[in-house]
Amino acid sequence: MKYICSKNVFIDGRFVPASIGIENNKIAEISDYGQGACYFDHYIIPGLIDIHTHGGYGCDANNADIDSLRNWIRHLPLEGTTSLLISPYTSTIEKMHDSIALIDSLRNQHLEASVLGSHLEGPFISDKHLGAMNEKYVLQPDINTYKKIAQDHEDCVKLITLACELEHAYELMDYLHTRSVVISAGHCGCTYTEGTEAKKHGLNGFTHTYNGMLGLHHREVGTVGCSLLFDDCYSECICDGYHVSFEALKILFRCKPKDKVILITDSLKTKGLPEGSYELDGEAIEMRHGCAYMAGTDSLSGSTLSMLQAMKNIVTHCEVSLEDAILAASQNPATYLGIQNKKGFIQIGNDADLCILDHSLNLKETFHLGDIVYSAS
Ligand SMILES: [Zn+2]
Repeated sequence: MKYICSKNVFIDGRFVPASIGIENNKIAEISDYGQGACYFDHYIIPGLIDIHTHGGYGCDANNADIDSLRNWIRHLPLEGTTSLLISPYTSTIEKMHDSIALIDSLRNQHLEASVLGSHLEGPFISDKHLGAMNEKYVLQPDINTYKKIAQDHEDCVKLITLACELEHAYELMDYLHTRSVVISAGHCGCTYTEGTEAKKHGLNGFTHTYNGMLGLHHREVGTVGCSLLFDDCYSECICDGYHVSFEALKILFRCKPKDKVILITDSLKTKGLPEGSYELDGEAIEMRHGCAYMAGTDSLSGSTLSMLQAMKNIVTHCEVSLEDAILAASQNPATYLGIQNKKGFIQIGNDADLCILDHSLNLKETFHLGDIVYSAS
């Protein structure tokens, strides 16, 4: 067994001195500080989990081949990400299906980060809250259409974003719920009443809170109000300061229980690429000032954010404690997906996925399944 230790190991939501014993890819022992490779007072935290990302480093989930996916995954430990759901977005049934099939082929492979499965962003979304989604591919909720999209790979679909107010959404949600797919309202126009009803059909979260949803009005708090007020539901947020202002994020963090906020990147293939013009699923986009826009407009089409930068942003700008920021990037997404006994927590029996950070939150090392997959030195 190999050991690492620090005076600041993140266990049970706080920093404590401890040693971690690693064997067979897992955390096999947690003991007193002082054994093995010593990181002194650097933070040892769980590896970060991104449940909503469409690509990076030239790879686009909807149009990927195995080599571009592998290249993207190779870069993830540089950002502290050790697990992810890959997100096919609203497109043709065939394209979404092929994307899921490819993602499925990477599950359970020993790569630089764990591919946990797929998150489908659409196609059963509201045409009134499209964001960057392409209207021509939007479909009405329908179990048979879903089965076509996920055909032969239903087990790979872990999370779906849909608009719960649409006709027949509840039938689809009831079906997905029985298949243990986590259901998140996004690109959605549900009112407070509709959102409350949707919870009875398995609604458990909100996709990129504030973006692509019915906003908060003082007489109808809308989908944003549901996300802020439903203490038993999880709320994703894109914390780059462009998609949502830091003030709005501060409100979210003040409203939600600390174990129910989830940081996501919603990153596109342009993450890690130079500024300029690109094509995304047949549409022209531009990378400028570190953001991706639909070409010729100021409409955001996705982010170039990393999970670690999202953590840094909320600690710096949103009065969120480092401890709560870590929860939002590791433990909360793991609990949301029901994999808390495998990922997201530093506890005996979990995969040895760890990040070492200095006190400025610079990444020093990333461990995935017990192997060092990134080292700053
Ligand atoms: Zn997205």
